[in-house]
Amino acid sequence: MPTEPTTPARPVLPGRGKVLVVDDSSAMRLALESVLAVEHQVFTAANGPEGLAIAASERPDVILLDVVMAGMDGYAVCAHLKSDPRTEDIPVLFLTSLAGEAEETLALEAGAIDFLVKPFRPRVVAARVRNHVELKRLRDRIRQQSLVDGLTGVANRRRFDEELLEAWSACALNQKPLALIMLDVDYFKRYNDQFGHPEGDACLQAVAAVLARSVTSPGSLVARYGGEEFTCVLPEADALRAMDVAEHLCTEVRALGLPHPASDIENIVTISLGVASLRPAAGGEPQDLLLRADQQLYRAKSEGRNRACG
Ligand SMILES: [Mg+2]
Repeated sequence: MPTEPTTPARPVLPGRGKVLVVDDSSAMRLALESVLAVEHQVFTAANGPEGLAIAASERPDVILLDVVMAGMDGYAVCAHLKSDPRTEDIPVLFLTSLAGEAEETLALEAGAIDFLVKPFRPRVVAARVRNHVELKRLRDRIRQQSLVDGLTGVANRRRFDEELLEAWSACALNQKPLALIMLDVDYFKRYNDQFGHPEGDACLQAVAAVLARSVTSPGSLVARYGGEEFTCVLPEADALRAMDVAEHLCTEVRALGLPHPASDIENIVTISLGVASLRPAAGGEPQDLLLRADQQLYRAKSEGRNRACG
């Protein structure tokens, strides 16, 4: 057995960050890498375009960006990063040998969160990068929590609104259909009245779990729309396919067999679903799709519940 190399004396933090160094000097890249690789996974790029490509594919937590580079300079790279939704939230630290108010202002106005003056001091670089990685992770976690429904763990209304808009644009661009399912739990108010709100919450969690494990096609989303209402976004699904999904959901929720004596249906928890699919027109609005799915849900209700209409 070969001997393991001795571990460095410095502590390695749990959950290493991903750091990208973009600098046209190979000596600088090496120096920064040797300082940062102790705690983080480090990627390096020798020019702007290469840096942009790595940033988009690896989504680092922090980018260290040289200001003075041949071709695309650091300001231009930063502007690109900030205009791309994949990279706009990644904090950028400029590496500059030009220390002065004008340069600092330029760097911050270009969207940098901080800057490091060359020649740098290793421990200062390590500490600043560590702080920014931690802040980035905290922001990511807060953002993640702001998009999830606290009770059921599926997407919340805010995320639904965002994703529906994105799916709408993508399907309009690719000339594909976009389907939406609106559903709610039948006689849910009676369920709450009979069993109390904690049981009502558990019922919603069980229904959400069925939806989450059943709706898994690429790009699809399950969200809690509000109260006992849920919705599924199904990109590239035509009316037939969406109806299949809806009927499957109806069957799966019934199969849970959750007792619901106050229901007029089968004394178990059931759902009603409205299905709509259309080909989004560029410039159109997803509200149209929502309205149609809602109308079909209303139809499912009026035709006796425990069914999908579309
Ligand atoms: Mg340079």
